[in-house]
Order: sequence, then structure tokens, then C-alpha cells
Amino acid sequence: MVARMIQAPSTTRTRLGDHIQQLAAFAPTAFPVLSLYLDLVPHQHDHARDAAFVRAALADRLSTLHPHAPERESLERDAIRIDAWLRDQLPPSACGLAIFACSGDGFFDAVQLESPLERRALYVGSVQIRNRATLAGNVCNASPAADTAPALLVYDAEVVAVGPGGRRRIGLADFFVRSGVTTLAPDELVESIELPVPAGARGSVHLRRTRRRGHDLASVTLACAVSPDGVTRIAYGSVGPRPVLLADTSGLLADSRVPDADKAARLSQLFGDASPSPTSMRASPEYRLAMLRVLGLRGVASAIERLAAAS
Ligand SMILES: Cc1cc2nc3c(=O)[nH]c(=O)nc-3n(C[C@H](O)[C@H](O)[C@H](O)COP(=O)(O)OP(=O)(O)OC[C@H]3O[C@@H](n4cnc5c(N)ncnc54)[C@H](O)[C@@H]3O)c2cc1C
Repeated sequence: MVARMIQAPSTTRTRLGDHIQQLAAFAPTAFPVLSLYLDLVPHQHDHARDAAFVRAALADRLSTLHPHAPERESLERDAIRIDAWLRDQLPPSACGLAIFACSGDGFFDAVQLESPLERRALYVGSVQIRNRATLAGNVCNASPAADTAPALLVYDAEVVAVGPGGRRRIGLADFFVRSGVTTLAPDELVESIELPVPAGARGSVHLRRTRRRGHDLASVTLACAVSPDGVTRIAYGSVGPRPVLLADTSGLLADSRVPDADKAARLSQLFGDASPSPTSMRASPEYRLAMLRVLGLRGVASAIERLAAAS
């Protein structure tokens, strides 16, 4: 979804297409070829746990091979190399890792995935929710606090819906109506959620306020993306009946020379229609509106920094 390739320390290849080409060019071999995917929580890696998972995943396969067979030795060398790689080279920010290995044929490729959002801070509920829930479910649930919504909105996500009448695409900004209600017809299902590849670089960030860190629905959630043409896209959630996407095309927010006071005034203007529920138990309307402006200003500053770093 909001994933891009980052440069692996062990390779100069950075694009997914290059990794795929290399895999496609790998000739059939008598040695076992290992493909392993690790779902990781950024900055919460646990080498002992990951190593145990790899050992357990390989145990069954190893038990089918003769102790001194070259195939088994190849697989054992793979296990050692993967263990060392996870310990020494896995960047803390990685949120997913695919490893392809075949020591018998001298092949090893690690494809790291990380979110383009700052500090990979796209938190969605607890670990259980992250592991079990689907992106389509999060979006169709249409909670104003849906954590994936702001990031999807600033990246112009489109919902692909299918039903008896065929297939149609709905821009995510036109999808949410209010809590629990979308523009999906009763007989339609979401088939996929697509993110167009941005035309150029974008600096982006996702920020979230909760009562309890990491295990709570957001009191305010905001994503911001700045592009080199001076357009700033801001999406927020939890401050009204549905997630909202806004754009500043004046160039003011994206300009690092403009003082914060002027940006704060522009943000207040943009957030003019934000209407937090007065009855929510999570935060008062005043708090949400104040935090929306704070996160807006922080989001713009971080997105500008990230765009500069990427350029
Ligand atoms: C304890 C708890 C904590 C939570 N914390 C968070 C949180 O911190 N942040 C957050 O954003 N959300 C949170 N949620 C909400 C939860 O993340 C979302 O409900 C979840 O993402 C839904 O995903 P799911 O795949 O389980 O969908 P389901 O719960 O199975 O479905 C949700 C709704 O979407 C519909 N639906 C699902 N898939 C499709 C489809 N393909 N096409 C059409 N309709 C579909 C279902 O019919 C249903 O109405 C929490 C929920 C619980 C129970």
C-alpha cells in the first residue's frame, strides 16, 4: 500500500522492479530456494523472536533432508546468513522484509519495505488489529478516526468497487459520508484500494494523538504531503463525522520561508469546517480543534523537511 522500496545495505538496487528482475533471472536449481516474509513493527524489532520464527519455519523442511545432503547444508547456511542479516543489517525502520536465499547457488536478496511516512508512524490500533484487520475493512468501517484514511487521502487513493452493475472507481475523498456510512451501494464490495504513483517526489508525514499510546482510537489524526509544485495536501480524521482532505494550492504552507504564524492562520482558515463531536468520550471539541492546528503545523514542517531530504 503506502510502501516504497528503500535501499538495502547489502545491495545497490532500490526499486522493486529490479528485485523482481533479479528473481526472474534466477535459473532453476537443485538446491532449495528459500523465500521468507517477515511482518515487522518499525522500531520494535526483536531479533530473538524473529530468529526463532525463522528457525521454526525452516525446521520442518530441514527434517525432510538427509543430515549431510548438499541441499540441507545449503538451507542451513541460508538460516545462518538470514540470522546474521537480521541481527546486523535490518534497519530499525523496516516494516516488512522479504528474503530470498539459496546458498547452494550463492543467491541472497533482502527486500526491505518501509512506509514513506515519517518515522513510519502509521499506527493502526493494537498489534492484534494490525495483524487481523484489512485495509478495505478499515475504510468501509468509515470511522471518522480510521487511521489509514488520512494517509490514503493525501496519496489520492481510489476505491475499486464491484457489484452487479460492474466495476467502478471512487476517489476516497468521495467515499466517506459519515461514521459507518460510505457511498458504496448495498450490493457492492470493495475489490481493492489503489494508490496512484505520485508524479514526483512528495514529503509526507502521519501524526496521531491518542489518550493511550498505540492502543487507542485517535483523538486527532492527520497526514500531510508536500510536493515540489508547492501544493500541500492535508487530511485529518476524528475531528468531524468523516475524514476530510484539504489542499493548499497557494504555495504558502509549502514555503519553508513563511513564518509559522502565517501558516497557523492559513491552517485555521483551512480547518474552518472541522466539527468535532461534543459528546465523544475521547477528547473535548476544544482539545481536538487545538490539536488539529498543532498537528497541522507540525505536519507541514515535517513534510517540508522530508521533501527537502528526498530532493
Ligand atoms: C478493539 C478494537 C480496536 C480498534 N482500534 C482501531 C484503531 O486504533 N484504529 C482504527 O483505524 N481502527 C480501529 N478499530 C477498528 C478496526 O480497525 C476496523 O474496524 C478494522 O480495520 C476493520 O477491518 P476488518 O477487516 O476487520 O473489517 P470488518 O470489521 O470485518 O468490517 C468492517 C466493515 O466494513 C465492511 N467491509 C469489510 N470489508 C469490505 C469489503 N471488501 N467491501 C465492502 N465492505 C467491506 C464490513 O461489512 C463491515 O461493515 C478497532 C476495532 C476494535 C474492535
